[in-house]
Amino acid sequence: MTTNQEMQARREAAVARGAANITQFYAEKASNAEVWDVEGNRYIDFAGGIGVLNVGHLHPKVVAAVENQLHQLMHTCFHVMPYEPYVALAEKLNSITPGDHAKKTLLLNTGAEAVENAVKVARAATGRSAVIAFNGAFHGRTMMGMALTGKVAPYKVGFGPFPAEVYHAPYPNDYYGVSAQDSLAALHGLLKTDVDPTRVAAIIIEPVQGEGGFYQAPAEFMQAIRELCDEHGILMIVDEVQSGFARTGKMFAIEHTGVIPDLITMAKSLAGGMTLSALVGKAELMDAPGPGSVGSTYGGSPMACAAALATIEVIEEEGLLARSQAVGELITSRFLAMKENGLSCIGHIRAAGGMVACELFDTQGQPDAEKARQLVAKATASGLLLLSCGTYGNTIRVLVPLTASDALIEEGLDIMEQSLRSL
Ligand code: PMP
Repeated sequence: MTTNQEMQARREAAVARGAANITQFYAEKASNAEVWDVEGNRYIDFAGGIGVLNVGHLHPKVVAAVENQLHQLMHTCFHVMPYEPYVALAEKLNSITPGDHAKKTLLLNTGAEAVENAVKVARAATGRSAVIAFNGAFHGRTMMGMALTGKVAPYKVGFGPFPAEVYHAPYPNDYYGVSAQDSLAALHGLLKTDVDPTRVAAIIIEPVQGEGGFYQAPAEFMQAIRELCDEHGILMIVDEVQSGFARTGKMFAIEHTGVIPDLITMAKSLAGGMTLSALVGKAELMDAPGPGSVGSTYGGSPMACAAALATIEVIEEEGLLARSQAVGELITSRFLAMKENGLSCIGHIRAAGGMVACELFDTQGQPDAEKARQLVAKATASGLLLLSCGTYGNTIRVLVPLTASDALIEEGLDIMEQSLRSL
C-alpha cells in the first residue's frame, strides 16, 4: 500500500511548492461529502474542493451524464466544430441568471479565466479601460486576476507589475468598522481623486466575499453600486465563482439583493467537479468582442457541459436552495452553542445560506490566525477537511456539500469542536 508519507516525499521532489497543500493526506476516492486517503482513512469534507462540490463528490447524475458524454464526444474544440451541450448549457445559464433581458454566455475553464474575459468584454463594450475592485477580494491567479485581487500575501508577492488601471475600494465590513456608508464614500472619493468615472469600464464585486472571509455586502450597498454604475455608464460585474449555484440559498448570491448585474462570472460548483467556468451577460455586451477574440481550446468541453447541465438539474430537483438555508442554520446554531459552551475564542458567526463562517480571536480580542491554522491542522488530522480564509487569516469557513446529511454535518462539527477544545 502507498502511504501518505511516501506520497509526500514524491510530491516534495516533483511538484512546485507554490501549489501548496493544506493537508499531507493523499485522496484516493470520494463519495458525496466523504473522502478516503491512500491509507484508507476517512475524512468528512467541509471544504468541498473549495466550493466546487455543492452537489457532492461524484453525484450519480453527474457521473452518468459525464459517462454518457464520454462515449459520444470528448473534444473537437468548440471553435472548430461546435456541439449541442455547449449551446444547451448557454441557454440554461441565460435562463437561470437574474434579469429577463437577452443574455449570452461564453464558456471557459477556470474562475480566473471567466474574470479575465469579463474585463475584456467590459473594455470592448465600453471603450474604457479602468476597473474598480474591492479590498479583500479574490479574483484569481492570472495577471488581471491578481491585479483585481485585494490581498497582497501570498497572492501578489513577487509577481508584479500587474495590469494598469485597476483601483480598489474598501469592501463593506461592519465587523471591522467599515460601514456600507464608509465604503460608498471611499468609492465616490476614488472617482474624485484617482480615476475619472468616464474612464471606468467596470466595477467587479463578490456579493459574498469568498477567500476574503465570507463577508456579505448589504443589499443597499449592492443597489448603490448599481445606481453608481448606471449614473456613469459603468458595467457591474458580479463574481459568483464561489457564491454561485445554491451555496447561499439562492442560485446566485446577487439574488438576495434584487440587483441585476451586467455580467456574471461563475465556475466551481457550476459543473459538480469538472473543469468549467462561464461568463454570462447582457447579449449586446457579450457580443462586443469580435469573432476569434475570446475563447479557449478547452473552454466548455463536452463533458464539462454535460456535468454542468446535470448539476443544475440536481440543484433544482433535490431542492438544494432550501437545503442550503437549512445547512447554514444547522452549522450556525452549533457555532453559537460552541461559543456559549466555553469556546469564547469563537466570534463573528455569519451565514449566507450554506456559506457559513466564524472567526477565532485571542484573549485580547485580536484575530487569531495561528489558532485558525492549528484548528485546520488538528481537524484534518482528526478526519475533517476544514478551510480557513480571510484578510486576517482567522476565519473558519464551511463549504460542505449541500447533499450531506445532517448526521454527517453534525459529526464534522463534533470533530471541529473537539479539535478546538484540544488546542
Ligand atoms: N473568483 C472567486 C470569487 C474565487 O473564489 C476564485 C477561486 N477561489 C476565483 C475567482 C478563481 O477561480 P480559479 O481558481 O478557478 O481560477
